[in-house]
Amino acid sequence: MAGIYVHIPFCKAKCRYCDFASFPDKITFAESYMACVYREMALRKEDLKDYVFDTLYIGGGTPSVVDESYIAMLVAAAKKNFNLVKDAEITIEINPGTVSAGKIDLYRKCGINRYSVGLQSAIDRQLRELGRIHTLNDFIACAKLLKGQNFNADVMIGLKDQTVADVLQTIEVAAANSASHISMYALTPEDGTPIYTDYLNGELPDGDEVAAMYAAGVKRLQKLGFERYEVSNFAKKGMESRHNLNYWRRGEYIGFGVSASSCINNIRFTNTFDLDEYFKCILSGHLPIIDREEVDEEGQKEEFIMLALRTSAGISLKTYSSLFKSDFLAEFAPAIKKMSEYVEFSDEFFRIKPQYLFVQNSIIIEFLSV
Ligand code: SF4
Repeated sequence: MAGIYVHIPFCKAKCRYCDFASFPDKITFAESYMACVYREMALRKEDLKDYVFDTLYIGGGTPSVVDESYIAMLVAAAKKNFNLVKDAEITIEINPGTVSAGKIDLYRKCGINRYSVGLQSAIDRQLRELGRIHTLNDFIACAKLLKGQNFNADVMIGLKDQTVADVLQTIEVAAANSASHISMYALTPEDGTPIYTDYLNGELPDGDEVAAMYAAGVKRLQKLGFERYEVSNFAKKGMESRHNLNYWRRGEYIGFGVSASSCINNIRFTNTFDLDEYFKCILSGHLPIIDREEVDEEGQKEEFIMLALRTSAGISLKTYSSLFKSDFLAEFAPAIKKMSEYVEFSDEFFRIKPQYLFVQNSIIIEFLSV
């Protein structure tokens, strides 16, 4: 089954590390933007009539910054235009500084059954440093509103002046406030963002320090009952994100909105990052695609390997053989021999040993062009 992604590119303020398509000064366009997204869905309806979707992910930006009635209409538009299964996983990203009881209530009523909350840190000083608009207390209040519901909390590592103890405290706060899923990921200082200057000034923790934060975080998460299923993702039993698992299994997905990307029938395409351009295309009845690439069989293989090796389960040898008519262990025998210290396999799977998952990139590269 396939997934649907919708990008809502509005935020209250720009975080210092953000290089996503998000426009803090354009929230007044939210109503017109949402109308264009509903229209983009209608434009795609015929092409996708044979697809069955089992996830809808509303990300951003900050989807919770727009009026909740637009979100309810968005879910209705997805259901109206596409075959979205009855028990679909429907996720919305929320910023703890932008929620209310009424908002969460309407989300639940319109069918949203999973939330992804941008906690990032439980230390207010670090939240301010990142330019986040919320405080720890906002997160705790938000978690109270979500009590009994399935939600992820994002935790960032590699922040300025962050210690291992700070990371553990953040994880403890997320767990104590009933998160069922935690994404723990390292800050990437992107060129052009204000935090890149901190990086150039040597103010961010170095690679070894970040690795120590990650290792301690993994240990604490496991102690609290969160199993790692992907390098940055940890879930209580049965609470893995179906939407993200589809990405890592190289499943198909369609994206709507500014900057959204898609992969359908081995064609990858991306929408424009420019909000005006997006409006112009949709209003003239055209799809806002700026980039389109057909992935050949070699490319499909590389993507499949790269994505699967990020997961704890690794590559299913049976799936590999049925997709690519090849025996993975035989095909990659020289790379496997070279990387033998870091990988493990059986008749069913091939994966990176758990203790090396954090440095998977340097291992995966050996399996990309033989
Ligand atoms: S809330 Fe997310 S999308 Fe918005 S500015 Fe911050 S990091 Fe970027």
